[in-house]
Amino acid sequence: MFHRLFMRMAVNFMTVLMIVLLVLGGLVSRFMWINQLNSGVDLMKQEAKAIAQNYQDLSDYQITTRVFASSINEAAADSSVWLVDKNGLQLNITGLDSSTPDLTQEDVKTYMKAVLQSGEPMTFQGGFERYFGKNAVMTVAMPLSSRGETVGAVFIHKKLEMFNTGFIPLFRELWMAAMMASLLGLVLTAYTALRITRPLRELAAAAKRLGQGDMSVKVRVYADDEIGEVSGAFNNMVDALKDMEEQRKGFVANVSHELRSPITSIAGYLQGMLDGTIPKEEQHKYMQVVYDETQRLTRLIRDLLDLSRIESGNMPMNPIDFNINELMRRVLIKYEGRIDEKNMEIDADFAQEPCLVHADMDRIEQVVSNLVDNAIKFCGQYGKLTLLTRIQGSECAVSVIDDGAGIDEKDLPHVFDRFYTVDKAHTSGKGTGLGLSIVRQILLQHGHDIAVSSTKGEGTNFTFALDLANPPKKV
Ligand code: ATP
Ligand code: MG
Repeated sequence: MFHRLFMRMAVNFMTVLMIVLLVLGGLVSRFMWINQLNSGVDLMKQEAKAIAQNYQDLSDYQITTRVFASSINEAAADSSVWLVDKNGLQLNITGLDSSTPDLTQEDVKTYMKAVLQSGEPMTFQGGFERYFGKNAVMTVAMPLSSRGETVGAVFIHKKLEMFNTGFIPLFRELWMAAMMASLLGLVLTAYTALRITRPLRELAAAAKRLGQGDMSVKVRVYADDEIGEVSGAFNNMVDALKDMEEQRKGFVANVSHELRSPITSIAGYLQGMLDGTIPKEEQHKYMQVVYDETQRLTRLIRDLLDLSRIESGNMPMNPIDFNINELMRRVLIKYEGRIDEKNMEIDADFAQEPCLVHADMDRIEQVVSNLVDNAIKFCGQYGKLTLLTRIQGSECAVSVIDDGAGIDEKDLPHVFDRFYTVDKAHTSGKGTGLGLSIVRQILLQHGHDIAVSSTKGEGTNFTFALDLANPPKKV
């Protein structure tokens, strides 16, 4: 893994470095070339001016031909100096050994006219092809005057390649810098590749072990960077998987336990009846117990199926508009027998009639039934059951309140967990602790949750909200 990553990073780095160096080298040499050309041309202009001045002085007899010739020779050391009259013919000056060619009429037109018109030093780059070849020289020209009259011009030609000095050292420096940068870059690349691959390799190994079922794996978080974040996320995922695995194991254990106890008691009673341990006259009583146990089993299996279907999304909600008050009354009637048995007082305080909500009616009936069932179950004789519906904004709040046993503060956060019952003894006739989990799942499917408040010994209040079918319009 290291080699591949290192190679990829190194190739990228070297490519970028080379591109940067090429662009930089190109820009610097262009800048230097322009600079050298400009200062060379400035020097040539000064020479042309000096020659023009000396020519004037020579015709005024202020300097000798020798002085003039030496000024020409000085300029001609690395250039060609031409002294030409207006018609393009060589200006003959005694003592001056010059190899000025005669200009053609065309050249006189192109160059001489321009120079004489400007009266200033002029530059021509790459001209005079006939004499020097294409794009070979830089020329500076200056008109020549004698006793107030322009007689011709001086042309100084310098080979363009003469301007090109000092590039080799520059490239040598750049080459050295490139070598140093490459070396440093490769070391840094190797270091970075190592820093990336080490945690990645550990992650890969840990993921493999996790895949084989080892839940104890953990990876080290090396740094507070993106890779560290991935390692941290991996550790969190392992924790979450561990929790889920524990939950799954607990669930299976609970289900087996819940199934085993009624089956054991059914088997026990049937055995007793078969072998005569239970006398004939008592058999009817025990048949009833067996029947109750089978009912309990049926209920348990139905609840488990409901829960798994809701959680896996296989129980689609069919929301319709219905009167929640009506539903509450229906549930009360369903539980009338048990309410009367306990001589309970009922307080029903409903919102305006009809209070239309938009939800899956059968599922909400299951919710209210479960809550009322609990309230009756955990109330003593002469207990009080209060049912409330209240309109709050665009929702209807539904409360099922009892003044029964209440729930201890430490148990309160867990009452919606599967198989959670405060009374841990799963004795026959007691609940299985699935009711509230189903209630919560159904409400979550409706986009709402359920709240519980309770004081031990004083009673319990379960409240949830439903969407109103026709919410009042906001002004
Ligand atoms: P099931 O509903 O599956 O038959 P259950 O009633 O025991 O069994 P839940 O309805 O999920 O299970 O309730 C979980 C636990 O919460 C109950 O066992 C009980 O300890 C506590 N509980 C629920 N409602 C009340 C209440 N109104 N008053 C006191 N305790 C309650
Ligand atoms: Mg219950």
